[in-house]
Amino acid sequence: MLEVRNVSAGYGRVQVLWDVDLDVREREVVALVGPNGAGKTTLLRALSGMAEVRDGSVAFRGRSLRGLSIEQIVDLGIAHVPEGRRLFPGLTVRANLKLGGWRTKNTDLERVVELFPRLGERMEQVTGSMSGGEQQMCAIARGLMSQPELMMIDELSLGLAPVVVDEIIERLPDIAASGTSILLVEQDVDAALSVAERAYVLETGRVALSGMAGELLADERVRESYLGIA
Ligand code: ATP
Repeated sequence: MLEVRNVSAGYGRVQVLWDVDLDVREREVVALVGPNGAGKTTLLRALSGMAEVRDGSVAFRGRSLRGLSIEQIVDLGIAHVPEGRRLFPGLTVRANLKLGGWRTKNTDLERVVELFPRLGERMEQVTGSMSGGEQQMCAIARGLMSQPELMMIDELSLGLAPVVVDEIIERLPDIAASGTSILLVEQDVDAALSVAERAYVLETGRVALSGMAGELLADERVRESYLGIA
């Protein structure tokens, strides 16, 4: 579905990514992990048209994304749930969700409420007064309102207690199974590799390791560097 080949990307004179290869297939959860500053956010931004792809190719269902505007990329069926959620804090859950469906004219809130019943109980609450976990549920639900075929989620766990992270992250396979593949950038490597089918480890702008998530979880280098297990 998504094919990234030899991608180099950056901002102005700063190059952040070198020769990155990555694939996301139908109905898959793929994790992208790595240390701070490795370039994970930059890769998501490059895929959604917010950072410049300088070299290489990015194709979504065989169509090149290079040079397309953010709106064109959204219209192809790619949603981006950014780091820090970026909800409209003064608007209600219902209004935030409706904005998510605005471009595709989707007004059906049922599917996202089924996934996150807590949002159904809080439809009229302003999102700024919700807990971090509820805000993250709302941000993911807002992304889903555009009925994307691929959803990229940046730092799902940011500022959340592990039990809340687990509660949200365990919904991702259901989302993928229902037709929205997920590319998940995550600091919580254990949680990400536990839920993903495949994963990529990005270090200083390059893919250092990739493979089945279960294999990476058992890999000595991953265990030492990211899970603190010697
Ligand atoms: P983190 O987990 O800390 O968010 P990351 O792996 O997502 O890290 P990026 O945010 O992609 O990493 O940052 C990669 C590098 O790009 C860093 O050195 C950062 O300083 C640089 N960078 C990020 N945004 C910009 C920008 N707008 N202009 C210039 N350099 C930037």
